[in-house]
Amino acid sequence: MHTCYACGNSATSDEHVPPKCLFPETKDTPDGTDLRRNLFTVPSCEEHNTHKSGDDEYLFFVLAMNLPANHVANLQVSSKIARAVARRPKLVESMMERAEPVLIADDRTHELYETNKVELDGVRFDRSLRLLALGVYFQHFGKRWHGSLRVQPEFIAFPDEHNSAEIANVIATVAACSQVLFKGATHIGANPSVFSYQVHEGEGTVTWVLRLSFYEGCKVTVFLGIDG
Ligand SMILES: [Zn+2]
Repeated sequence: MHTCYACGNSATSDEHVPPKCLFPETKDTPDGTDLRRNLFTVPSCEEHNTHKSGDDEYLFFVLAMNLPANHVANLQVSSKIARAVARRPKLVESMMERAEPVLIADDRTHELYETNKVELDGVRFDRSLRLLALGVYFQHFGKRWHGSLRVQPEFIAFPDEHNSAEIANVIATVAACSQVLFKGATHIGANPSVFSYQVHEGEGTVTWVLRLSFYEGCKVTVFLGIDG
């Protein structure tokens, strides 16, 4: 009998890792490119599949609307997300409620442009990423991870936290280390413009390090350790 990738209870279905909603439908890709080929699935219980569909959608929105995301993400924003907004305007209203306009400088051109700073539901986002990381581990190793796990997104800023400089520092350091650690490591995943992951064997208390890439630009480093 199959057991759930996240909790070990009996599996009742297969869950896509990452959630299928991240991958555009063929009707939304310009030349009908199929970006839903050979998606990863893992056995899942009810709670860790259907019951988290709200979190899946939130994760998708945050990733696709993030600045470092690529053209496939932009495509998703102008098709699928636009439809979701038209259907349920309250959904985005609630996300944008406390949005504030900010000026951002483009890394390459140094031009300033206006965008929105949106408050992130950090607890929800962290929960989604942790489950996703467990799913990636299960898909890669064919078994459930039992140790501690920490996820570190590299693309989120916390401008209003009192220790924001410190947090920014940690994020920058992890990103820089990850960049070196995973240089040349194989990207696994049939649709890397949407999602791929890399695996690095750790040392000391860190058993494995994973690097997840969403829409190429949004990176998350995952530390899997015996005791953290
Ligand atoms: Zn479960």
